[in-house]
Amino acid sequence: MHGIIERYRTRLPFAPEDPVVSLGEGGTPLVLAPRLSERANTEVWLKLEGANPTGSFKDRGMTAALSAAVREGAKAVVCASTGNTAASAAAYSARAGLTCAVIVPEGKIATGKLAQALVHGARVVALRGNFDEALKLVRELVNRHPISLVNSVNDFRIEGQKTAAFEITEALDSELDALCIPVGNAGNITAYWRGFTQSGRRPRMFGFQAAGAAPLVHGAPVKNPETVASAIRIGNPARWEQAMDAITSSGGAVAAVTDAQILDAYRFLAATEGIFCEPASAAGVAGLLAHGVQDARRVVCVLTGHGLKDAQTALEQAGAVLPCDPEIDAIERAVLR
Ligand SMILES: *Cc1c(COP(=O)(O)O)cnc(C)c1O
Repeated sequence: MHGIIERYRTRLPFAPEDPVVSLGEGGTPLVLAPRLSERANTEVWLKLEGANPTGSFKDRGMTAALSAAVREGAKAVVCASTGNTAASAAAYSARAGLTCAVIVPEGKIATGKLAQALVHGARVVALRGNFDEALKLVRELVNRHPISLVNSVNDFRIEGQKTAAFEITEALDSELDALCIPVGNAGNITAYWRGFTQSGRRPRMFGFQAAGAAPLVHGAPVKNPETVASAIRIGNPARWEQAMDAITSSGGAVAAVTDAQILDAYRFLAATEGIFCEPASAAGVAGLLAHGVQDARRVVCVLTGHGLKDAQTALEQAGAVLPCDPEIDAIERAVLR
């Protein structure tokens, strides 16, 4: 399977002879969710972005950002990250043979993401501060040094990520009324809107933020953002204006969901649809269930990252294991009870 640059090159800022750094990202499943559709009283499809090579949608943007960096002759890349950008940047840098440094908020990223960044050989810097401070510092750093910034302030990230909207448009030949998506730094909602409008579609864009990290909902930055959904623990989104433009021009809305609502949607997807996403990804589904999507009859929820990224939250949210002696009676009791 080709990656997104090979598949959509004519709609992306890459010429045929340009170098491509790819891990075969994109082409992710879009599956109907019968139980969720019943509960939400509308037809709901799930875009499984956890099926990307490093387990999140960030790979769509990273293949574009790293390919452009190689084309420009960059030797090193850097990013601030709540985890998935770090994992993806580390993997694509390893693939490209570039040096990679990632700045993450100390103690606030899921262990799977940390493991990925480290195993791919990135320099991992744990900042005694939050994501917003990390992003501000890396922007200063790249002003002083010839290092390529691969956060979603880099437009190649948005270009790569818009391909998810192309895929949805191709897969659903009839009308899509609404998209539900978690919003952190607001790059992805910006990318989807660009992808849909370039495909001649205008679904209503519903962005959902965690209640403790909901600057777009309050209309003001949040100084100390807090939520179990660490991937969207962001208080001052870089793509603020573009996100609000996508929401207002499409006739959508932005709203907040509590951690309890996020975790309820997270467990519901795992237990009834067989789909394990990370907590941040469940925010879109939580928003659909808590706030609805007006009169939309066909909805896509973007599940942005894989549940295995954050095994700790899963273990905290799920049932306990049953200890058992190695005897048939004990096994019978344990299995059949
Ligand atoms: C990055 C990320 C988000 C938020 O995307 P933004 O472009 O920052 O709004 C949501 N969910 C997951 C799993 C992520 O990794």
